[in-house]
Amino acid sequence: MITLKEALTKSKEELSEIKSELENLAKASNLNAYIGFESSGEGVPILIKDNIQVNGWNVTSGSKILQGYIAPYNATVIDKLNANGMMAFGRSNMDEFAMGSTTESSFYGITKNPHDLSRVPGGSSGGAAAAVGGGIAIAALGSDTGGSIRQPAAYCGCVGMKPTYGRVSRYGLAAYASSLDQIGPITQNVEDAAILYDIIKGHDSKDSTSADIEDGKTVINENRKLTIAVIDNYISEASSEIQKAYSDTVKALQDAGHTIIHKNMQNTKYDIATYYILATAEAATNLARFDGVRYGRRAEASNVSDLYYNTRSEGFGDEVKRRILLGNFVLSSGYYDAYYLKAQRVRHLIRDEFNAIFKDADLILSPVAPSVAPKIGAVHDPLEMYKSDMYTIAINLAGLPALSLPVAKDNDGMPIGLQLIAKAFDEQTLFDGAASMEKAVKYTK
Ligand code: GLN
Repeated sequence: MITLKEALTKSKEELSEIKSELENLAKASNLNAYIGFESSGEGVPILIKDNIQVNGWNVTSGSKILQGYIAPYNATVIDKLNANGMMAFGRSNMDEFAMGSTTESSFYGITKNPHDLSRVPGGSSGGAAAAVGGGIAIAALGSDTGGSIRQPAAYCGCVGMKPTYGRVSRYGLAAYASSLDQIGPITQNVEDAAILYDIIKGHDSKDSTSADIEDGKTVINENRKLTIAVIDNYISEASSEIQKAYSDTVKALQDAGHTIIHKNMQNTKYDIATYYILATAEAATNLARFDGVRYGRRAEASNVSDLYYNTRSEGFGDEVKRRILLGNFVLSSGYYDAYYLKAQRVRHLIRDEFNAIFKDADLILSPVAPSVAPKIGAVHDPLEMYKSDMYTIAINLAGLPALSLPVAKDNDGMPIGLQLIAKAFDEQTLFDGAASMEKAVKYTK
């Protein structure tokens, strides 16, 4: 597949041919990565996760409850694509309302991993990552609340980047957990990720959490020598093959002239509990709006309370219901202080611990997930699934930018991704380090 950088040099006619070619390839593929083939305007086709509003499209967050809902406006990121020689083309499959790590919970069925059709692509942006990793999309936009860009990118052998919280407007992104959600690029390489990031970033008065902090054009300098921290007590939970890829990468980074320093983190044991309290609390609140009155599908009912009850019972899948119940529980009177408030406090400790490391280091290197992509159907227990987010969620809790890129394959040929994490609003250093790491590890597709 041509890269985003190459695609930007093509004429209008060539791009419209590329678009039809992509559509044919996607329709012939058995990945179930695309769930729609709508397009907006003209330009380089960018695949869009099904939770980002594109005017006139049936945008559903992978849910039955939003069947029939037509987005009445563009998300800010879509306006930015359109203004920069790109267009939205195709909706990508995802876990329902972005809650999941495998893309098995979508109303549209399971998406498959392009490296092994019996495995999941990761999630929740699994359709986007499978399409880019499988050569049926040039680049895609996903969303990352607790790893949903970086983890599927790692499972599918592509690059996934989560910007600093506030860097990219969330206007028009269906809210899952508003204090954690960020839109970001999924691409074939680091340079393309920087190109797409530059286009979608920037202050937006329509998103009250959008940061008004200048960020010039990213000019990647892969020759910069950086100090990279490895968290020694962080990697023991990862599989032995991931640990090996990790130590090989550390060696490659040292050979490339970077300085490696060793650190430990004490609060990582609280990451999963903190995230699943805060994310479910925010989700329960955000999803209250789907009641059959304003959006999407409406169930049969003879009075208004049955209308809410039936619409939500029929429209939401099991995982979404579980999260709404958990979220309402942690927010309920009597439990609010014990869970929600405490989790907010722990969130500060987690962020402070990262900031302390960034006093000595430019970047942190970490696994993205403890294993490669699991088999479809293998993760039954929700807690087991939540545990697989152990390396990604703290970065959202701390609001930091991070980029996942493939570094090696395991013995079964499955991609292994590692992530670099940077200080808040230091995406420039993130891209510099990632470009150097991409060169140093010599990953072959
Ligand atoms: N797997 C995590 C969750 O289910 C993260 C999902 C995401 O980033 N959207 O909440």
